[in-house]
Parts: sequence; C-alpha cells; structure tokens
Amino acid sequence: MTGQRMAIFEAVFKESSHFTAEELLDKARLIDRTVSRATVYRTLPILVESSLVREVDIGTNLKYYMPNKEQESHQAQVICNDCQKIFEIPAPFMEWYGSTVSARLGLTPISQRLQVNASCQEFQSEGYCSKDAASETTATE
Ligand SMILES: [Zn+2]
Repeated sequence: MTGQRMAIFEAVFKESSHFTAEELLDKARLIDRTVSRATVYRTLPILVESSLVREVDIGTNLKYYMPNKEQESHQAQVICNDCQKIFEIPAPFMEWYGSTVSARLGLTPISQRLQVNASCQEFQSEGYCSKDAASETTATE
C-alpha cells in the first residue's frame, strides 16, 4: 500500500503537464507494476485536498490533474476545442479581479477560474488535431 502510494507520488511529480487518472495509473505502473487502479483513484483526492495536486475541470467527463509545483500566481487555462489540449498560463490579474469584484459586493472570494476555449496551432494549420495530441505533450520528458 505505502509502496503503491510512493509510486503514485513519484509519477505525479514527474509530470509537467495535465494528466488524467488513467494516465497517472500507466505512469505509476512503470515505477511499480503492482499499483492498482483503486489506489490511484483513492490517492488523487487526498493529493488534491492537501494541495499537492490541482484538479482542472474543463467541463468534460474527464478530470484532469496537475502537480502544484511552486505556484507563483493564479493560473488560467486555454483549451483547444478540438483535441482538448490544455495550455496553462499565469493570470495574476485574475486574483486581483476576483478580490476587487468580491470586495465591492462585500463578499470574500473562495475560488475562481478562467478558461478560454481556443483552436490550437495544429488545428489552425491542418484543420484538425491528431487525437492524441494531449497525451503527446504529457509524454515529453
Ligand atoms: Zn487542438
């Protein structure tokens, strides 16, 4: 159990991009092949709760995750409508905007997000995206 979790942590912090639970399972199994799907699904919410991992909801059935390395500012996501590749961009102005708007209403901000739907460069040049574009970017290590 502990060994499995260690493999999951290790796999998470090797990631520099977004991943799904299933992608994490594959990567954790490269480190320790006994890692079970159940352990991955049990461990992810714990990592999110302890702010080691951030959940990125792009409004589809699939949940994406990203390791929370030194987070210098609020992050916004730009998502390709076609291949759902997620680009992460710093958006410090969002923090300011959220607190300014909330303060004006006498409210305390809890969370906020900015997501931009876009067409990726491949879509612009080819008119389509290769389906596994998202996994290609996470595989570059
Ligand atoms: Zn695309």
